[in-house]
Amino acid sequence: MEREAASGVRLKTDVVVIGAGQAGLSAAYHLKRLGCVPVRGFVVLDQSPSPGGAWQFRWPSLTLGTVNRIHDLPGMRFADVVPADAREAQASVAVPRYFAEYERRFELPVYRPVHVTVVCERDGRLVVEADRLTLSARGIVNATGTWETPYIPAYPGAERFRGRQVHTKDYRTPGEFAGRHVVIVGGGISAIQLLDEISRVTSTTWVTRRPPEFRTGPFDEEAGRAAVKLVEERVRRGLPPQSVVSVTGLPVTPRIEAMRERGVLKRLPMFSDIVPEGVRWPDGTVLRADVILWCTGFRSALDHLAPLGLREPDGGIVMTGRLATQVAKDPRVHLVGYGPSASTIGANRAGNAAATELLAFLESSAPIA
Ligand SMILES: Cc1cc2nc3c(=O)[nH]c(=O)nc-3n(C[C@H](O)[C@H](O)[C@H](O)COP(=O)(O)OP(=O)(O)OC[C@H]3O[C@@H](n4cnc5c(N)ncnc54)[C@H](O)[C@@H]3O)c2cc1C
Repeated sequence: MEREAASGVRLKTDVVVIGAGQAGLSAAYHLKRLGCVPVRGFVVLDQSPSPGGAWQFRWPSLTLGTVNRIHDLPGMRFADVVPADAREAQASVAVPRYFAEYERRFELPVYRPVHVTVVCERDGRLVVEADRLTLSARGIVNATGTWETPYIPAYPGAERFRGRQVHTKDYRTPGEFAGRHVVIVGGGISAIQLLDEISRVTSTTWVTRRPPEFRTGPFDEEAGRAAVKLVEERVRRGLPPQSVVSVTGLPVTPRIEAMRERGVLKRLPMFSDIVPEGVRWPDGTVLRADVILWCTGFRSALDHLAPLGLREPDGGIVMTGRLATQVAKDPRVHLVGYGPSASTIGANRAGNAAATELLAFLESSAPIA
C-alpha cells in the first residue's frame, strides 16, 4: 500500500474488502483471480482475532452434522482440509481451520484484528478508518455479516425482568440452564436447535410470532433459487432483507421428528409483555420464567457505512447489479453476504459478482492496480 503522509491518509489501495467470512474471502479470491494485485490493488480487513468469520464464535454443540450445509469456497474443497465424515467436529473449529488454510493457499492479504469504524468520502475517494490504520480506496466490498448485530425485539417490561435474558449469540451449552425454566423465542433453525438441546436438561416454553412453517419433502435447487429470488426482489426495491431461511421454511429432519415425539415442539403465540417474574399474554396469563432466550436473529452490521448516506429515507438500501450486490446510490460500494447472499452458497456467488462488477466499474473510470 502506498504511503500518503501529507493528507493524513496513510495507506492507499484500489479496493478494500471489509470482513473475512465466506463472503469476504470469496470476493478476495475473485479480485485476485481477475488480476487485482494484493495490497496495492486490494486488501481485506477483518476484526476477528483469527480466520473463520463468525463461525469461530458459534456454540460448541453446533457441529458439521447439525449445520444445514457449508458450501466450499471457490477454488478449494472443504473436504481437502476437513474429512468428509467429520460430522461430530465442532463448526467453530472445523470451519476456521478451512478458512485459515484457504487464506494461506491463495495468499490473500488479510489484516487482523482490524476493526473498521467508519467509511466516508474525501476528495472523490473512499476513506476507510479503522482502529489501527486508515486507508484510501476507490471501491469497497462490504462483507461484515450479521453476527455483530444481534436483534432483540422490544417488549414492554423487559428492563424489569428479574431473570436472565440471553441472545443466541451468547449461548454456549444447555448445562448452564439446568434447573431453570427457559422461554425460547423465535421460529428459525437456531431456535429449534437450542430448544432441542435445552429441553433435554430442563423445562422449556417455545413462543413464536407466527406459527412455524415446517417443510416436508425435498428442497431442491429450484426451490432454493425461488426463495433467494424473493429476498433479492426485496433488496432491489430497497426493503430491509429477510433471512433466506424465513422464506424457505423449516425442513422436517429426523431431529425435528424426535422433538415432536418428545412433545417439546408445542408452540405458544408471542407474549405481550414481560413482568418481573416471567412473561405475560394479552389475556393476563403469566408464566414464571428464569431465562428468556431470544433466538430472534441478527441484522446486517452496516453502521460504519452511515456517512456514505446509502439508505433511503425509509431506512432501506436500494441494491442493483447481477446479483443485487451493488448499492444503486453509490456503485463503488458492494454489499456481499447481505440479503439474498446471506448463506455460504450465496456469499460465494456474491463475492464473484461483486469483484467482477466493481473492477469493471473502476476500470471504466481509471486503470486499477
Ligand atoms: C447459527 C448459524 C448457523 C448457520 N448455518 C449455516 C449453514 O449451515 N449453511 C449456510 O449456508 N449458512 C449458514 N448460516 C449463515 C452463514 O453463516 C452466513 O450467511 C455465511 O457464513 C456468510 O458469512 P459472511 O461472510 O457474510 O459473514 P461472517 O462469517 O459473519 O463474517 C463477517 C466477518 O466480518 C468481520 N467484521 C464485522 N464487522 C467488521 C468491521 N466493522 N470491521 C472489520 N471486520 C468486521 C467479522 O469479524 C467477521 O470475521 C448460519 C448462520 C448462523 C448464525
